[in-house]
Amino acid sequence: MYPPILQRFLRYVRYDTQSDESSTSFPSTQKQLVLLRDLAAELRALGLSDAAVDEHGYVMATVPATSPKPGVPTIGFIAHVDTSPEMSGASVTPILHRAYDGRDLVLPDNPSAVLRMADLPELAIALGHDIVTASGTTLLGGDDKAGVAAIVTAAAHLMAHPEIPHGPIRIAFTPDEEVGRGTLHFDVEQFNARYAYTIDGGGRGEIETESFSADAMTVTFHGFNTHPGYARGRMVNAIKVAAAFIDALPADGLSPESTDGRDGYLHPYVVEASVDRTTVKLLVRDFETGRLRDKEDLAEQLARAAVARHPGSRAEIGVTESYRNMKEVLDRHPDVAAHAREAIRRVGLEVRDTLIRGGTDGSRLSFMGLPTPNLFAGEHAFHSRLEWVSVQEMELAVRTIAELCRVWEEKSGEAD
Ligand SMILES: [Zn+2]
Repeated sequence: MYPPILQRFLRYVRYDTQSDESSTSFPSTQKQLVLLRDLAAELRALGLSDAAVDEHGYVMATVPATSPKPGVPTIGFIAHVDTSPEMSGASVTPILHRAYDGRDLVLPDNPSAVLRMADLPELAIALGHDIVTASGTTLLGGDDKAGVAAIVTAAAHLMAHPEIPHGPIRIAFTPDEEVGRGTLHFDVEQFNARYAYTIDGGGRGEIETESFSADAMTVTFHGFNTHPGYARGRMVNAIKVAAAFIDALPADGLSPESTDGRDGYLHPYVVEASVDRTTVKLLVRDFETGRLRDKEDLAEQLARAAVARHPGSRAEIGVTESYRNMKEVLDRHPDVAAHAREAIRRVGLEVRDTLIRGGTDGSRLSFMGLPTPNLFAGEHAFHSRLEWVSVQEMELAVRTIAELCRVWEEKSGEAD
């Protein structure tokens, strides 16, 4: 008999819940609703009687308070059901590898898909663990079904143990995180939690309170098109202006392929090219919001220089805000991270603070009024056919969630 979290996890990964960037509907794919509806039913069966799916597909539910203390804040736990569009999530066949001993794990449906400790150093923390992988042709969906399974299992645990004192606990399952729309219709008021945690992180003990700050930049070069046979002295080729611009971007830094840790970047990722008009889209990223501006200024300078070398061309530049580093919000609510660190320590783990070189639903929720750092769920090598989770880490995520509910209750009413 498998432990409850593993049973749930193996069940959830069989739902194809891939989201779709190109879709204009919400959720981006209808198939996500199948799992969302089943999750609401499962929560109701566990006794969370208000569990429901709203008109946009979000599942919300409450574990009622058990504490007699007044004023214990409502805490939320959030996970997303969709899987990455980068890799198939259809007909996932999960495989349990018991007591991992460091050997190569060859996935049966694709002999070239091999989990080797040399390539995936995180596997070292899972020696002796039971590991789940997919079968070699799809992702596993641990991102974020490990988080979903951890939250449902923690809710079941709290419902079965009313002697554990905690305040009201809110749960949300969301669609479309992987296509950046997970919070688009998230009703913060309806959720009605003071603080929340996304359960969508890596190895045990991990807490993420910092994400990138992000802008999207569009540089449109205008040229002049005419019949190439009669173009002498008249044609201005916007493609060449854009090429000069891209070529001038720093090669030895400021790019995703040459930075890590705290360094940000300026990243051209889409070019739509024609002689008349060529658009370059860039991602601008930094942990310091103020430093986004420096990068945008540099891009603008380089664009102007390219235009100067091609008389008759011109450039139009647009910048839109994508999201901001959640640390700016979380620093004003230090208890949120402090209590999570306390819970992680209480289950016997070392706290590992990591940076998110990207954004999460939590970055957006934090700025929507719901401070939301991210906690580990035991996800590894996500968006890949080599994705894996450790059952023991998922169990630690469940214990951390339950402990965190208790910490909030215990600390509430204490002087700050
Ligand atoms: Zn995720």
